[in-house]
Amino acid sequence: MEQLKMLWELQELEQQIKQKERELQNIPSVIEHQERSKEFDEFQHKLQQREEEKRQAQKKQRSKELELQTVSSSIKKTKEKLYSGEVQSAKELESMEKKVQSMQADQSSLEEDILGLMEFLESVDQELQTLYKEEEQKKEALEKGKQTAQDDFASAQEELEKLQKKREALAGQIEEVLLKKYYRHSKKAGGRCISLAKEGFCGICHVSLPSAFRARMLTPGQLVYCENCGSLLVPGD
Ligand SMILES: [Zn+2]
Repeated sequence: MEQLKMLWELQELEQQIKQKERELQNIPSVIEHQERSKEFDEFQHKLQQREEEKRQAQKKQRSKELELQTVSSSIKKTKEKLYSGEVQSAKELESMEKKVQSMQADQSSLEEDILGLMEFLESVDQELQTLYKEEEQKKEALEKGKQTAQDDFASAQEELEKLQKKREALAGQIEEVLLKKYYRHSKKAGGRCISLAKEGFCGICHVSLPSAFRARMLTPGQLVYCENCGSLLVPGD
């Protein structure tokens, strides 16, 4: 009798263990942390893209500035030559004037480009400042969430280990033959197969049991099964 009661307790413990194992896979704080981490990765990716755009614009700005210097000094030199009186040929003078005009057009277009890049860089910088602040906040929240998730996971695991130890200790007290029978039966039933009968009802399918069952259940060595669900009956009162 004691043996059957222990077997029922073992079954209930195993149900609790299964439940805990499911819970361990679905801890809300862990799931939330995983989602937050993914979001943070995406955010950082966006930030890095902005930084790369900034670098590219700076590079472009430097090269345009160098180009502008070259064009400006070329204009200066050509103008000096033009007004020095060295060149006498009208044709040559005309060609030099045209060259100056063309270079001046290049110069103003370069200046315009540089101005545009400066404006772009200013707006990217402003955006980056906002993003860096946001990054700090997100990082902090992520760390906190990580800690909570780790704590929750550890405590759920601890509870599971406690249940498993309890289960082991209990199983050690039950006769091998009975255990084997239970596992075979449980596998076939696909779940609980030991029923704690109370007040004349099966504890699993809740069908009313014939009154003769009680006496049979109390007979040592007798295994009585519910006629409706096939569970092994254990007297619960
Ligand atoms: Zn039943």
